[in-house]
Amino acid sequence: MRENADNKLYGNLGHLAPKKASRPGMQIAVGGCLAQKDRDTIVKKAPWVDVVFGTHNIGKLPVLLERARVQEEAQVEIAESLEAFPSTLPTRRESAYAAWVSISVGCNNTCTFCIVPALRGKEKDRRPGDILAEIEALVAEGVSEVTLLGQNVNAYGSDIGDREAFSKLLRACGKIEGLERVRFTSPHPRDFTDDVIAAMAETPNVMPQLHMPLQSGSDPVLKAMRRSYRQERFLGIIEKVRAAIPHAAISTDIIVGFPGETEEDFEQTLHVVREARFAQAFTFQYSKRPGTPAAEMDGQIPKKVVQERYERLVALQEEISWEENKKQVGRTLELMVAEGEGRKDDSTHRLSGRAPDNRLVHFTKPDQEVRPGDVVTVEITYAAPHHLLAEGPVLDVRRTRAGDAWEKRNAEKSAKPSQPAGVLLGLPKIGVPEPLPAATSGCGCD
Ligand code: SF4
Repeated sequence: MRENADNKLYGNLGHLAPKKASRPGMQIAVGGCLAQKDRDTIVKKAPWVDVVFGTHNIGKLPVLLERARVQEEAQVEIAESLEAFPSTLPTRRESAYAAWVSISVGCNNTCTFCIVPALRGKEKDRRPGDILAEIEALVAEGVSEVTLLGQNVNAYGSDIGDREAFSKLLRACGKIEGLERVRFTSPHPRDFTDDVIAAMAETPNVMPQLHMPLQSGSDPVLKAMRRSYRQERFLGIIEKVRAAIPHAAISTDIIVGFPGETEEDFEQTLHVVREARFAQAFTFQYSKRPGTPAAEMDGQIPKKVVQERYERLVALQEEISWEENKKQVGRTLELMVAEGEGRKDDSTHRLSGRAPDNRLVHFTKPDQEVRPGDVVTVEITYAAPHHLLAEGPVLDVRRTRAGDAWEKRNAEKSAKPSQPAGVLLGLPKIGVPEPLPAATSGCGCD
């Protein structure tokens, strides 16, 4: 969770005020880390908010909304710890064909740049039966892709006493009929065990994609960050993943300019980037988060130095992303058609989709109708640093239940444009909802 999240929240709330005024009965709830941190400040700054709830009491959201409606005043409720994973909350997903499924909340690590341990508390795992039941219900509704979500997904099981619980969960997902694509984010290198790599390689619907936050390639900086792996371990995991899943696209998160980072430390990060050959990296300039140990550390790096290192890192990663993308040219890939991912699609007469490894591909619009959630087969003809093109004709179109679900939802939306069903999770966006992101920044804490 970073500073611009605060700005985004209050900016969004400002946009929502006139919408609420023009729509009687509309309610606004703010939840999660920011709500936990700002508590009463939110209703002071934005008195049109109905409910503020913390990271631990999402399960009470329906009750709080109802209470706000009946009492006609804002309800602020922050629980200090989670009693049980809120498995029964009704949710409305933004996509008809892809869904996020939480497997745990909180984190047992104490990375010094991160506010999550202070705000979300210890890891609380959801029971495997509840997770699988939710996925099965989603698949029954037409969803064909799920992303398993947690601050540290492969620590999953520590709370329920099973170190191999995450690999078992992946294998169990492999048995769900109709579930075509399984992804997860984010794993922590400390907990990345061989059984997870084996489960990824041996479960056909687990996609050849791994998002694993590096944060820094320097051992002293990793130590100062309290990240308990070292460069050698990180590269060792990458090597094993590449051996088991040769076409895997590996992405990462990197922080530049952590307090005390020397030029030599930064060179170590560049070294790992060269060795790991990430398909993509989400790069961040370190910024102080009040309440984190790193904010109090000596050796804060001047902005100019951080900027210069950041630019070198981005330039190197762009070069590698492009080289790796060029290796895709000539491959025949199955894409799941996506909604709203190609800004220029209309003018270029293309559609967009995601390859199994989550690369974004723009392809020529076929004559026959193709809906988001359907699957097309294409040949890659061109590579740019951040996307691929398939300029030839589409080789095959497979209409799917996910496409049917998208069509059904669209028909319902146009029939009842102002009636959201259930509770929408996530920071609300103004205007057209974004599609599911390719990969979130590690640990979901930005
Ligand atoms: S960065 Fe990720 S692993 Fe580290 S404390 Fe935050 S949530 Fe946990």
